[in-house]
Amino acid sequence: MSRIKVHDKEFEIYIPQDQIERAIKKVAENINRDYAGKNPLFLIVLNGAFMFAAELFKSVEVECEISFVKLSSYSGTASTSVIRELIGLDHSIAGRNVVLVEDIIDTGLTMLYTIDKLRKLDAKDVKIATMLFKPKAFQQDYAIEYIGLEIPNDFIVGYGLDYNEHARNLPDIYKIVKT
Ligand code: 5GP
Repeated sequence: MSRIKVHDKEFEIYIPQDQIERAIKKVAENINRDYAGKNPLFLIVLNGAFMFAAELFKSVEVECEISFVKLSSYSGTASTSVIRELIGLDHSIAGRNVVLVEDIIDTGLTMLYTIDKLRKLDAKDVKIATMLFKPKAFQQDYAIEYIGLEIPNDFIVGYGLDYNEHARNLPDIYKIVKT
């Protein structure tokens, strides 16, 4: 299927599953190289990262712990700015080597907030592993250690990523068709 419709929008095939999974294997190899003997705590950021994480951890061989967090967002009372809260954290973070596992980094604001929160909980070290990265949209100055694939500023779905909760189950990545 090279073209699909999700809700009201059309998407076309962009990155096939085998290319995504080759990139994920490379991320796993780099993690294996860097984290041997460090017992890292991987925090998978739900919902979007579920498929990336499932594939990634088939190839991560270091001794580690894996847990899941979610970022709930709600509008602040005094302004329209979105405040995000990290929920579901059931591990002690103090002194841990933490790796955040994320689906996609766009402006980088979401991860900025999350890194800050984990540092305040006294994590020893916080690094990021993202399946996709939009370098042209990124507006922060923190490093992203592990990147699967860099993509342009197009809106994409599939491999865990949704458009209004649909299309997460697609095994390939699709990009929006501009009209
Ligand atoms: P950031 O805070 O880096 O701007 O945005 C990160 C979040 O925005 C991601 O976790 C994801 O939920 C959403 N996002 C950014 N770009 C895309 C995209 O192209 N497609 C989808 N489905 N979500 C995206």
